[in-house]
Amino acid sequence: MNKKPFVTKDQLVEIIKEFPTPFHIYDEKGIRENARKLKEAFSWNKGFKEYFAVKATPNPHLLKILQEEGCGMDCSSLTELMMSEKCGFLGDDIMFSSNNTPAEEFQYARKLNATINLDDITHIDFLREVADIPKIISCRYNPGGKFALGTTIMDDPGDAKYGLTREQMTEAFLRLKELGAEEFGMHSFLASNTVTNEYYPELAKILFKVAVELKEETGVHIGFINLSGGVGIPYTPDKEPNDIIAIGEGVRKAYEEILVPAGMGDVAIYTELGRFMLGPYGHLVTTAVHEKHIYKEYIGVDACAVNLMRPAMYGAYHHITVMGKENEPCDYVYDVVGSLCENNDKFAVDRKLPKIDKGDILVIHDTGAHGFAMGYNYNGKLKSAEILLKEDGSTKLIRRAETPEDYFATLDF
Ligand SMILES: *Cc1c(COP(=O)(O)O)cnc(C)c1O
Repeated sequence: MNKKPFVTKDQLVEIIKEFPTPFHIYDEKGIRENARKLKEAFSWNKGFKEYFAVKATPNPHLLKILQEEGCGMDCSSLTELMMSEKCGFLGDDIMFSSNNTPAEEFQYARKLNATINLDDITHIDFLREVADIPKIISCRYNPGGKFALGTTIMDDPGDAKYGLTREQMTEAFLRLKELGAEEFGMHSFLASNTVTNEYYPELAKILFKVAVELKEETGVHIGFINLSGGVGIPYTPDKEPNDIIAIGEGVRKAYEEILVPAGMGDVAIYTELGRFMLGPYGHLVTTAVHEKHIYKEYIGVDACAVNLMRPAMYGAYHHITVMGKENEPCDYVYDVVGSLCENNDKFAVDRKLPKIDKGDILVIHDTGAHGFAMGYNYNGKLKSAEILLKEDGSTKLIRRAETPEDYFATLDF
């Protein structure tokens, strides 16, 4: 797949006059079209709802766009709950899928009447002590072992800190029922950034089978099954994007094979996608400021790992377009680096690119989810602005860049 930025060089030159690089820019049109496609893919399910994983891109302006497209919010911390509340998400518009949860966060979630998805069996009594047991409650399931699609191992749930074991799911539902819960949900997250149309259908089969067993064992009413996140995006140009319509159909097939015959045709399907919702619709825009020739060739840019941590943290690939040089041969090999005193602060290593000159504008792709949000302040570097490219082509500053005053704000000296 040819990776093309959603903005042109001319547009960026104009935007940079007002907002200096580096910044993240988001594509409203792309976000809305994608959200509508997801909704269409699951339109066969009456109660379907996407709860956007706030942690991926916690910006109220973007949450509002998703709200207008019918999404709820998936939160896992106090400030995410507060931001969602402030954006007008109420009650069951909010899913609280946390782990190792502090008392005050459960209390806040209860105050908002968010749907709580418990990560552990001991959290039943903990929640009861610090707040109360709601009528609607969900539990996160961890099947253990390895999770495979065909012969490919996708991830290692047995090594993950999340969720309840199979036996604990039964015990938990019985206990919650005894404590007054009336409507039950199940959740599971077994593999991250899956670029295949098979992940959700396979996960659905696992969850649906367990749901049928749980209903028989405990007699509770299961109202929803939450497939959580994990539907990925193609970061590298050689990969094809997921076909969300095919994914929705795959889940429908499993639903009709497993749930409907068990008399569970009223179960709502929920998703908690983050990356899939926003990943491709964000770019980190940065300017080349230095070139260095030692044992390798380096291009220094004005962004660094503080603005996008995935390459430093996971060695993740993010595609780079040198604006205005899209059709030039990629006959140079560069490390594209930030300015942190950390040798992993590299957006690209040994990347074939066209010749880059100082002042060139670089677009780093697929930063719309888990991009800005993972940022930190190492080396005293400041976080960038976020800009929304609206559907009419105009731009709006949706987060200003940090200033030294912000950085010093928690210190008294
Ligand atoms: C991170 C997370 C998500 C979203 O994951 P993506 O990979 O962005 O789809 C959803 N649910 C939970 C509980 C998460 O922790």
